[in-house]
Amino acid sequence: MTDNTVTKDTVVKLAYSLTVDGEIIDMADEKEAIEFLQGHRNIISGLESQLNGMQVGESKWVTVAPEDGYGAVDEEAFDEVPLSEFPEDVTPEIDMELELKDAEGNDMYGRIVSIGEDSVTMDFNHPLAGKELHFEVKVVAVRPATADEIAHGHVHSHGHHH
Ligand code: ZN
Repeated sequence: MTDNTVTKDTVVKLAYSLTVDGEIIDMADEKEAIEFLQGHRNIISGLESQLNGMQVGESKWVTVAPEDGYGAVDEEAFDEVPLSEFPEDVTPEIDMELELKDAEGNDMYGRIVSIGEDSVTMDFNHPLAGKELHFEVKVVAVRPATADEIAHGHVHSHGHHH
């Protein structure tokens, strides 16, 4: 085990691209590489588990099944929203994404999937629910985490003080 290997409790800098349904939907090159604490679920489990043992400079493709990514599509997460609950200046359209409050006042993000006479059907699943995720990753840097970082479960870098 060297400092160049991704293991639990190392801080990893990772460049990646994310392809879903054949389209690149997110990417970070080496300059924009994300930094996270490995082994603390700072990233989705299906990706994290595939990084263990990778070396600095190594690249690979990782395929993550929906259940190890953003979950399966939950049929319960579809809901009818009465048109009367929409702000007057919003004209509902298919695929429109909206932020609504639930009964407890929490923010919920939903996407309109159909529009009826008095209500619309909204899908409150994560947009990547049910999707297979294809990551191309490259390990840019690895360092041991500090004791503080391990205790907090996240990376401390500039801009993060407490
Ligand atoms: Zn902290």
